[in-house]
Order: sequence, then C-alpha cells, then structure tokens
Amino acid sequence: MKPALKQETLLTQIGRASATQSVNPPLVRASTTLFRTLADFKHSYETMVFESPQYGRSGTATTFEFQNAMAQLEGAECCIAVSSGLTAIAAVLGAHARPGSHLLVYDAVYGRTRVLCEKELRPLGATVDFFATLDELRARLTPATALVFIEVPSSLTMAMLDVEAVCAIAHAHGVPVACDSTWGSPVFFRPHALGVDISLHSATKYISGHSDLMLGTLTGTYEKLEVVRTWCDRYGSHAAPDVCWLALRGLRTLAVRMPRHHANALAVAHWLQRQPQVRRVLFPALEDDPGHALWQRQFSGASGLFAIELARCSEDACERFYDALTLFGIGTSWGGFESLAMPAIPHHLRGLKVQPDDGRLVRLHIGLADPGDLCDDLAQALAHIR
Ligand SMILES: *Cc1c(COP(=O)(O)O)cnc(C)c1O
Repeated sequence: MKPALKQETLLTQIGRASATQSVNPPLVRASTTLFRTLADFKHSYETMVFESPQYGRSGTATTFEFQNAMAQLEGAECCIAVSSGLTAIAAVLGAHARPGSHLLVYDAVYGRTRVLCEKELRPLGATVDFFATLDELRARLTPATALVFIEVPSSLTMAMLDVEAVCAIAHAHGVPVACDSTWGSPVFFRPHALGVDISLHSATKYISGHSDLMLGTLTGTYEKLEVVRTWCDRYGSHAAPDVCWLALRGLRTLAVRMPRHHANALAVAHWLQRQPQVRRVLFPALEDDPGHALWQRQFSGASGLFAIELARCSEDACERFYDALTLFGIGTSWGGFESLAMPAIPHHLRGLKVQPDDGRLVRLHIGLADPGDLCDDLAQALAHIR
C-alpha cells in the first residue's frame, strides 16, 4: 500500500482531475447539461445527485472537483458544497427536523444556528433543546433525538468541548453527531477521526481564505449524508461553480496560511495578556486557558480567531478603541488574510435587560500581517481606555 500523503502534499494534488494541459481545472458554468441520447439522459437521473452533471442545481465538473477535494481533505466518503456556511447548518439541522423529532444543540453555537433552531425549526414541529455540559447531553437525550449538533470551540466564548465524549454518548443512543468545524479548518481539526458523523464548514472563512466569497461544505459517509443530500436537492441550496473554483484556489495555500495564523494569533494573544486594559484573553491555545488540555488533544494547531475581555470602561472609551484601530477592520466574518475586530455579544448576554458588559467582549481575527505591527496598532487603540 502506498503511504498516505501528507496534507501539504494532498493540497497540491486534489481537485485537479478534470485539468488536462492547464495546471488548474477549467471553470465550468452551466444550468443545462446536454445528453447525447435519451438513455444517457435517463441514466443521469439514476446516478447520485451532486456527483455527475445533470442540471446546474446539482453542480458542474467544477463543483465536483471542489467537493472531491474537501472529502479527501477531511478523510470522508463524500462532500456536498452549498451556498454558505449557514446553508450547511440549515441543511443538516433541517434534514433532521421533522414534526415530533428532537434535536440537541450545543448551547454556545454560532448565533445564527440558535436563531435558526428557535425561529424556523421549532415552528416546523421539531423539539430543539440546548445542552452546555456532557451531563446535560446525557440527561436530555430521548428516544426521539435525531441529531446532536456541536461546534468547537464555541462561537465568541471559545470554550472547548470533548468531541470524542460527545460522540460516544450520542452513538450509544444511536444518534449521529454533526459538528461545525470551521474554526480549526481541515488542517488543524480532524472531526471524523474523533467520531463526528457530519462535519460542516463555513468555507467562506479559511478554506477560501480571501474574504471574497460565501460557501459551505458538509462531509460524511454517503449513508449519513443521504437525508442532507435530499434536503439540499429539494431546497436548491447549491454552490455556484465560480465560487467553488475560487475556493479550490484558496485551498492550495491552506496548509501554509494556517500555521501563520496560529503563530501570529499566539504572539498577539500573549502580548494582550500583559496589557492592563485587558482583563482576559479567551483562546484555547494559551497555556492557562481552561480549554487548553482539550485543545491540545483534539487540535494540531489554532486558528487566528479569539476573544478578549476588556477591563471595565465607558461606552465612549470602548468606541474610541475600535475607531482608533487602523490595521484591524471593524467587521464580521474571519478567515481571510486581514485582521478584524468586532464587539461580541454571546447569546447568554442577549437576554439580559441591562447589559453592563455589552461591547466589552471583543472578537479579534489575527490575519497575516506582522504580529508586531498588529500589537502596535492595538497598543495605540488601547491607550484610549484608561
Ligand atoms: C461564519 C460562520 C458560519 C456561517 O457561515 P457563512 O458562510 O457566513 O454563512 C457558521 N459557523 C461559524 C462558526 C461561523 O463562524
């Protein structure tokens, strides 16, 4: 047997099957696919959707190249590319949400995942419960539970979860586990090896890596993805070939970009820990973070996204901090080359009438700029907070 290729090597090989003379595969745009004979036309409807050209909705050769690349990268049987990370979340949750079915979702998931559960899935007749700990997960599993949905680390608060333990508990009840794996990227996080059945990514982030597109992926076995595939087919949630082509280009440098994000973020995080205006840095790659041991066990590196809690300051001072930043943009999303800062409001603060801490949690994305320059920028902005 040939030895398995290292991920760096794999990233230079995958997704190029349809390339002939050019290095890169051609971009195939299509709505209509033409068939030579009626038999060919009929045959196309008997094969698996999302793997052979049928109609633009099920993808073109470009889509299949990207899907195959992602499946190989995640060590999964197959991949479905969809129009955004949120669509990937909607597909996996929506496909398992039937009247009377029960979904168990990690408490600190991406805010939009929660909104989707509460505003769309519950009215469909599905019961959605949230769990914060393994004990709560054990206690809340019911015979009607159709899916456990997690995200590691948690959005905004960067808390770690024991993925293997979650999978062991869910699987003992015959329940599949879906995981939002966006933070670690396929380079630092191997969810399927930890037992996750369906891994999803907002490929908008590190996979594309340049903040110029929206894309989502779902990977797993054919069997586990069958209901998701059907949901995507029925709702028409396909990814555009142009976007898949750009994402393939982004993938080529993923294994180079991720260690740099890790190193830069760690340098900036260590510096921030020493600043009097910063009360806490929430980043599992830090030795004194409560999630550090779990991060070490489950990840082979950290991405550039973490949060800081500012020391108490007036709203004005906080605003001056943001406005003074020059190398950090104020904006949502992350995973590109650029550095970003954004006020973070975890859902458990949202329900409060008085929000004394509003705006004090700052989410930072550390991009590919020199970390010394980034610290200098943060230093002059933090000077507005006394
Ligand atoms: C951004 C994000 C999403 C949503 O992805 P989009 O591509 O923006 O729709 C989902 N999960 C996490 C953890 C995210 O950060």
